[in-house]
Amino acid sequence: MNLRWTGRGSARVFCPVCDAEGVQPAIAKVRVEWQRRPVVVVRCATCATVVPSAVLPPDAAYQGAYWDWDNYVEQSAGVEVLASMLALVDAPPGSTFLDVGCGFGFGLDLAVRLRGWDGIGLDPSEGADRGRAALGQDIRRVLLDPAFEPGRTFDVIFCSEVVEHLRHPRPVLAEIRARLAPGGAAIITVPDATVISPDRPLTVAEPALSIGHHEFVPTIDGFRSLFEEAGLTAEVWSRGTNLVAVAAADPTGLARLRRDGVAELRDLAEYARLHVESAPTDSPLAVGMAMRRVKYLAYDGRIPDAAAAIPALAAILRARYGIDLAQPDTIAVDGGPVPAVLAGACYFAGLASCIVDQDPLQGDRYFRAAARSGRAHRQQFDRYFDPEVGRFAMEALGELASLHAPTDPARSRTALAELDQIASDCGDRTFADAYHARVDPLLI
Ligand SMILES: [Zn+2]
Repeated sequence: MNLRWTGRGSARVFCPVCDAEGVQPAIAKVRVEWQRRPVVVVRCATCATVVPSAVLPPDAAYQGAYWDWDNYVEQSAGVEVLASMLALVDAPPGSTFLDVGCGFGFGLDLAVRLRGWDGIGLDPSEGADRGRAALGQDIRRVLLDPAFEPGRTFDVIFCSEVVEHLRHPRPVLAEIRARLAPGGAAIITVPDATVISPDRPLTVAEPALSIGHHEFVPTIDGFRSLFEEAGLTAEVWSRGTNLVAVAAADPTGLARLRRDGVAELRDLAEYARLHVESAPTDSPLAVGMAMRRVKYLAYDGRIPDAAAAIPALAAILRARYGIDLAQPDTIAVDGGPVPAVLAGACYFAGLASCIVDQDPLQGDRYFRAAARSGRAHRQQFDRYFDPEVGRFAMEALGELASLHAPTDPARSRTALAELDQIASDCGDRTFADAYHARVDPLLI
C-alpha cells in the first residue's frame, strides 16, 4: 500500500478553498512513481481542506501510464452513482443540460437516455473524443469558460468529481452560475475530506485523495463557502464518501431538489442493455455494459434475468479477450493480468449456477475463478485498484465458505481465511463479518 498515515514531516501548500499559503504538518505521505519524494498530504489549519503537496501535470493526468480509459469504461466508471446524482433534480424531458468535465460522458449519456434531457458535455481530456465516438453524444473537447457558446444557458448543469481537480475552483463555479437558466439547478459533487482519515478504510481514503489527480478535498463547510462566494444558494450534504450539492441562483431552481431521488435498477439494467446491443462486441463499452447489466439485474433481485444476461457477457469477453466464461477452470490460472471485470463476471456466474441452475459444483468452480481473478488483479496493481474487484472476490470466497461449510469445514475455513486477508488488504471488514456471522455457526 502506497499511503502511509504519519504526523512526521511537513509541506508548503496553497489551499484552493481559503487561499491560505504556508508550511503545514503532514497527515499522510504517499509514494508515487512520478517524483522521487513522496507526496505529503496536509489538512489546512484554517479550513480543514485536505491538500497534497504535488499533483501530476494536467496533460499527463488523464492519459498514458496514469489513466486507463478502457478500464474506466469497462469497470471503474460509477455509472449507477452518476445516475443517482442526476436523480437529485426534477426537470422534465426536453430540459437543457450541460455536463461540465464529463470525461467519457456517461453522465451526459444517462441524462439524455434516462431523463430525456437535451445535453452537451465538455471535457478537455482524451475521454471526450473517446466518449463522443462510443456514445454518439455531443461531447466537446473544451473547458467551460466564457468562450464556450457565449450567452447560452441551461436548465440543469452537472459537474461531478471535477472541482477537486482545480487549483482555482472559483472561475468554474462563477461560470456555472452564469450558465444557469432562470429556474435552473446545478448538481455538483466532490469527495469528502472527512473520509481521509486513519480510521476509515484505505479503499475509501485512497480514491478520495486520488493522489496525482486531486488538487484538494474540501470539508462540507469549505465546499458550501465556495458556492456562497459564487452567488449560489446551495443545499450541501454528505452522501457515502462524497459531498453532494444542489445549487441555484433563485428559489425556483432550488425547488427542483429531490433529495430522495433515486435511479431505478430496472432503468439502469435497460440502459446497459441498450449499449450491449449497439456497441461493437469487442469494445470496452460492450464489456462494461454487459457486466453492469448482469450486476444491476442481480442487485434488483432478478437472479434468473441476470443469469439469462450472462451468455451475452460471455460472448463479449470471448470477442475482446479470448476468455471463455463457460469454462471457469481455465480462467485466471496462469497468474498474469486479467480484465478487472472478471472477478464480478465469475461471481455472478457462480450465483446463477447455485441459485438458478441448482448446480453447486459449477458454482464452486465460478467462485474459485472469481477469487483467482481477484488475486491476479491484486498482484497486477499491488492492491485492489478498483475496490469493487476486492468486494466481488470477498463475496465469492464467502459463498465458497457457505457452500462447503456443511460437508468440508476445512475447505470452508480456508476460504474464510482468504476472505479475511482481502478484508485486511482493503481495510474493510463489512463482507468478512457478514460471511463469518453466516458460516461460523456451521463450523463447530
Ligand atoms: Zn484552507
